[in-house]
Amino acid sequence: MIYDFIVVGAGIAGASAAYALLETSPRGLKVLLLEREDIPGFHSTGRSAALYSETYGHPVISGLTRLSRPFFDQPPMGFSEHPILTPRGVMLAGDSTQAQEVEDLYNTFKDDVEGLKHISGDEALKLNPALKKEAVHSAMFESRAMDMDVNALHQGFLRGFKAKGGEVLNKAEVSSLERRGNIWSVETRAGEFQGGVVINGAGAWVDVVAEMAELSPLGFVPKRRTAFTFKGPESLDLSEAPMVVNVNEDYYFKPDAGVIIGSPADETPVPPCDVQPEELDIAIAVDLLQKATVFEISQILTKWAGLRTFAPDKVPVVGSAPAEDSFIWVAGQGGYGIMTSWGMARATALLALGMEFPGEFSDAGVTVNALSPMRFS
Ligand SMILES: Cc1cc2nc3c(=O)[nH]c(=O)nc-3n(C[C@H](O)[C@H](O)[C@H](O)COP(=O)(O)OP(=O)(O)OC[C@H]3O[C@@H](n4cnc5c(N)ncnc54)[C@H](O)[C@@H]3O)c2cc1C
Repeated sequence: MIYDFIVVGAGIAGASAAYALLETSPRGLKVLLLEREDIPGFHSTGRSAALYSETYGHPVISGLTRLSRPFFDQPPMGFSEHPILTPRGVMLAGDSTQAQEVEDLYNTFKDDVEGLKHISGDEALKLNPALKKEAVHSAMFESRAMDMDVNALHQGFLRGFKAKGGEVLNKAEVSSLERRGNIWSVETRAGEFQGGVVINGAGAWVDVVAEMAELSPLGFVPKRRTAFTFKGPESLDLSEAPMVVNVNEDYYFKPDAGVIIGSPADETPVPPCDVQPEELDIAIAVDLLQKATVFEISQILTKWAGLRTFAPDKVPVVGSAPAEDSFIWVAGQGGYGIMTSWGMARATALLALGMEFPGEFSDAGVTVNALSPMRFS
């Protein structure tokens, strides 16, 4: 059997791209999704902070996020038993030395993001009373930011892909890729497979997979980010309070299912691996959070780290490799891979199937050139 497409990596990038191929193509395609681990979602996809925000990252990322929203708001019938998005809101807060940064950020997004507000410190404190007065002079408040059910979204893509005839193989680490004539031979721990086009959605390992195919790496850098949970004060009900991110992204905290998720928003470059949290990063975050908020963090309940993988210009990459049309990257999702997943998946499927981006993509500032790997050559 020769597959039309072989997708490497079943995190949110690979799973959503595989699903979008079958959703977009008018004819039945044969698509195989290969995952190294026992369970898809073991790496970055299972370790996120589960936020949807239209003001986070480069304007192209914001465009991809906005393109994803209608799908998240109203996924196809039977996609998920739970809503993908639930209200949260996010505040980008600055102290008196950061007023200009808050204003600049607001000006960058105010024309594209519905309901965005530039608010005073007092208004910010009413929205999230865990903040100390001196930590917030002004803030940008995005009321449309949402909590995401990442597991429901990821499982929905995988289940929907299989229901449309796609095949998923776990414990199938790709170890070599060879182009013979018009066909890729893909060797894995679970056997050898053949396909016309390879889609590289291997997260932190995308450059490793390209090198296996004897193609040039694009210079992706995986960066460790640490997160942990702790109990907030009994006296404050923060269940509906917005997430707070320092405008310079020095720390963030987010109420989540009765506890608080905290992070030092670290970005430490590391080789691709099953990354683990460092005690020092947690200590830094505890110190920053205790200075900016009323939290007294005496006990860490859970802790983890994950990789956010960035292209050299920090904008995600979708498109064919410079010297090889039959090798397509869907990579560099950084800290936005869940919220941009449907926009990225649609872009991947349209390019893979030789179709044009519809008008709504250019309206959102998402063009073939902006995503293309050719920009690095
Ligand atoms: C702490 C933290 C907080 C975050 N918060 C958010 C957030 O709030 N919102 C948001 O949108 N994003 C967030 N992100 C980013 C988001 O998690 C990532 O952008 C996204 O999960 C990347 O998905 P992926 O599929 O590219 O990578 P992964 O989930 O890592 O998937 C890649 C898969 O490829 C597989 N693979 C690799 N090599 C091979 C091979 N040779 N053969 C077979 N399979 C292979 C791996 O096993 C892995 O399962 C956060 C990330 C972190 C770490």
